This record gives sequence, C-alpha cells and structure tokens, in this order.
Amino acid sequence: MTDASAPADAHWFDWHPGRLDPSTTAESLIRELPGPVRFRLAGRDRSRRRALTTLLHGNEPSGVRALVRYLVEGRTPATDVLGFLGAVEAARVEPFFSHRFVEGGRDLNRCFRAPFRGPEGALAQACLETLSAETPEALVDLHNTSGRGPAYAVVTETRSAHDALATLFADHLIVTDLQLGTLFEATTPLCPSVVVECGGVGDPAADAVAYEGLCRFLESDSVTTDARHRLDVFTHPVRVELAPGQRVAFARRPVPGVDVVLDPDLDRHNFGTIIPGETLGWITEDGLGSLQVRSASAVGPVGHLLTERAGRLVAAATFRPLMITTRADIAESDCLFYAVAVAPRRPEATASAR
Ligand SMILES: [Zn+2]
Repeated sequence: MTDASAPADAHWFDWHPGRLDPSTTAESLIRELPGPVRFRLAGRDRSRRRALTTLLHGNEPSGVRALVRYLVEGRTPATDVLGFLGAVEAARVEPFFSHRFVEGGRDLNRCFRAPFRGPEGALAQACLETLSAETPEALVDLHNTSGRGPAYAVVTETRSAHDALATLFADHLIVTDLQLGTLFEATTPLCPSVVVECGGVGDPAADAVAYEGLCRFLESDSVTTDARHRLDVFTHPVRVELAPGQRVAFARRPVPGVDVVLDPDLDRHNFGTIIPGETLGWITEDGLGSLQVRSASAVGPVGHLLTERAGRLVAAATFRPLMITTRADIAESDCLFYAVAVAPRRPEATASAR
C-alpha cells in the first residue's frame, strides 16, 4: 500500500501516497510507513504549493487521520502540496498514538532551531531546508491538545494572512512571542505559518476540525487573503511550568510526597476565566517553588498568578488558562498550562479585543 521505500536522505523517506485503499486507517498507515516521511500531492495549479505538516507529536492523531481520509477520498488539491509526517516511530509505540516522542528521544517540535542536535535535530534541519528551497505560499501544522478544549490556531505574528489561515480551522487565535524551537516559528519568515491545535486527543470533534479545515486549506483557491470570520485573540500567554526536576500528580486530594497536585478536571477551564481564590489543586507549603512562569524574556516565580492557601493551590489573579494538560508526563516534559492575564475591571481590553 505504501510506496515509501527509497530514503530521500538519511533523515526521512519520500512517500508517494496516491489514492489510498478505503480500508486504510491512520493506524494501518503508521504501521506501514518506514519512518518519518516527506510526501507530495499534485494539485490543479502545478505552479504553486502549500505545506502541510502533522504528527510532529506521536500522540496527536487528528492531522494524520484527516490526511488519510483525504487520500482515501481521492480529492484533488488546488495547488501542489508538500507534506511531512514527523514522529512516525513515536506514534506506533503501543498503544498507538500514546507517545509524544520515543523514550530517550527529544520532542521533535522543539528541535527546529540551531544547534540541530541528534536525529530529531537532523530531521528538523532537513525539513526546514526543503521548505526553504520550495517556497510554499503557506504552511499549516496540525496538532492535538492533551486536555479538552476547542480548536485554536497559534501564530507568532499578527498579519492578515495568518488570520485567514487560522479561520480555515478555528475561532480562537493565540499570538505568542515564546521561542520554543517549534516548526512554525522557523517557517514564519519563509511563508505565513500557523499551528492548529484541533482539539483534544480522542475527541471526534477534533478529527472533524482537522478534516474540514484540511479540505479548506488544500482546496481553496486562496488561503491567505480573506479571514472567514472574526477571531477571539489571546496575546502573549505565559507558560506555567514545573521547576526543573519537580513532579506533578493529577488527583482530587493531596498526594503524599508530591508538592504540586492538580485537579484532574482542570482542563474544563480551557479558554475560560479563572478568578482570584479559585482552587486549582493542592500544594505543600514550600510547593510554590516547584512552579515557575516563563515569558518570552524571563523565567520567574509564579506568585502573581498562583498562591498557596491552607494547602490549596489557588489563583492569585484573574487569568484565562489555555492548553491545560491533565497528563503528568506532558506537564513534566512541557508545561502545565498557558495563561493570559486579565485586567480586573476591563477583561475585554486584554483578552479578546480585535
Ligand atoms: Zn503537538
């Protein structure tokens, strides 16, 4: 089924998908691919191309499910498509789509900047070299969140082309100045680039967002000129992280020996508003030191957002939390959540003005 036997170079395989058999699933495809792949689709207009990347995280299947459905249906894109599937090896670690990256490896979507260390760095560098040489008119990178929540797009620059791309998939837009070494940070100078977080892993609505958005992205004559609707915009969220070496648990009560315990339903607050005094979990008296806040310019204490009150971790300010995870491994290797501060009396001025 998969014609992907010839390595393009040491880092990936060139995959020539054609029309896939109707029995193909994301799982069966991932089982057959030899590793990370670059692929191309021929469009109606061969003079232009768009870039599609997905599966940079092996536990985020909505993008590859959308691609499989698209290829099974034998649809024709408006332009040529240059695509990458990244963390194929991580995705097929049993149970399928459970590992963000392979054990002992690196998070591929933190490797798109120098120094390009290890196999993930080499793959990222090769991917960027191809994208740079082929000048796509736009790039979309499809992901899932590990917690529940609506779809949203992430950009590093507020330009009308980015808004137009975001509205192919989502109603919410996050503008970030955090530099994490992600693909879309590196490609934004090359072409309008957005990350789309399609929704939570395992949520059928997220798969639908990915598929419907993918069809719009691949088949519209223009994808960078007209926003389809207004966006709810969140500007420059900070990351709330564990301090290095700290552990977190998700439970409904304190856990002996763990400084930071978060409510396992915390992700119900994604894109909502948390007000001062609201309980997020439990924390030891010294536990605030286990947390830190990272902005684009600094890493500092968490005290302006969160505090300890009688053993509980409570909000110290009004903020809107985004990308809350409820998986301890992801919270420990990436972050607990992002937060956008809200001015107490004029929330609309900070949170959603546009
Ligand atoms: Zn991801």
